[in-house]
Amino acid sequence: MFNIKKNKNKIDEKTLLETLRKISHPVKEQDIVSLEMVQGLKLDGDHVTFALEIIPAEANEMEAVRRRADEALLALDGINRVTSVLTAERPAGNTQSAPQPKAAHKSSMPHGVTHGPAKKIAGVKHVIAVASGKGGVGKSTTSVNLALALQATGLKTGVFDIDIYGPSIPRLLGTEGTRPESLDGGKITPVFSHGLASMSIGYLLEKDTATIWRGPMVMGAIQQMLRDVKWDLEGELDVLVVDLPPGTGDAQLTLVQTVDLDGAVIVSTPQDIALIDARKGLDMFAKTNTKVLGLIENMSYFLCPSCGERSDIFGHGGARETAAEKNIPFLGEIPLHMDIRESSDAGTPIVSKTPDSPHAQAYLEIARKIREQLS
Ligand code: ADP
Repeated sequence: MFNIKKNKNKIDEKTLLETLRKISHPVKEQDIVSLEMVQGLKLDGDHVTFALEIIPAEANEMEAVRRRADEALLALDGINRVTSVLTAERPAGNTQSAPQPKAAHKSSMPHGVTHGPAKKIAGVKHVIAVASGKGGVGKSTTSVNLALALQATGLKTGVFDIDIYGPSIPRLLGTEGTRPESLDGGKITPVFSHGLASMSIGYLLEKDTATIWRGPMVMGAIQQMLRDVKWDLEGELDVLVVDLPPGTGDAQLTLVQTVDLDGAVIVSTPQDIALIDARKGLDMFAKTNTKVLGLIENMSYFLCPSCGERSDIFGHGGARETAAEKNIPFLGEIPLHMDIRESSDAGTPIVSKTPDSPHAQAYLEIARKIREQLS
């Protein structure tokens, strides 16, 4: 998926295409350029990105072709990094331009990737996943602030953004545009900010190329990231917070099964619909025998910044009730507040920006409850 080596020289796109023309389709006896399988070829300095358009049934064979293409490009003087993915046509009728979590299930699941027993992530003691039944409930905002709060309790912490449909951790941590560095042995370094180690597909792809991840091979990329990030660059991490993609489809299920998790946290708003989705999340974790560390109610209530009056805009307390009903811990409530949104958008999450604020304290309280469960 991403390959890095070290040396520098000039090169142009024509050379790249000529190189890729030497790679043949294993059955069709034509090269991958003539077959118009190479999409979105882009050269940025010493970094090549492209997608290989395939039909899902070919995923096994084409993964090997993709690797051969990467190797051929890396053999060129002046190419130090190659980011490639296998991608498949969206199902007919799906004309939305945004990547669709639902489209990434079953038929488009990677055939070439085996989901063996859950893997330990090297350099990390505990792994917790942050999940949500649907997008927009504040899952990523919670992941980042929770990671910072866990750090504030004295744990060495990292954030791993595998929200392939909309990696937002770089924006939240103010690290957009940062590139991980390569190390000997094919490892890449996490990015450090606010004291947190972080890794995101957002660091590896240009902003607008993220859409190619709607293809079937996203799992391959994630598995490579699971293997190749040197999380313990500055010492072993006590805890890694994994920001899952929203939803409870096969893609999420596979991710949960791929990583050896200590447990999962589910973020929900109080609205009924979000809670119904959160229940699906609970079912998914039950099916995979993943411990649910608890439920967080985000945007729980509104505290008026000028008069201090509290309003329960979305109705309040639904997550607490669901938690009681399902017999899982209720971890806490985070208010809907302008400071939380503004600090996130500015890349200085509230727990880092104003650790003494009541909002930051709410995250800290939750972090303490999670920490207790880890030890
Ligand atoms: P998700 O990861 O679930 O898609 P995000 O974390 O990206 O959601 O949050 C969606 C939007 O809601 C962002 O603009 C974020 O700043 C905002 N947001 C999240 N939680 C809160 C909160 N408690 N108060 C105010 N805004 C919030």
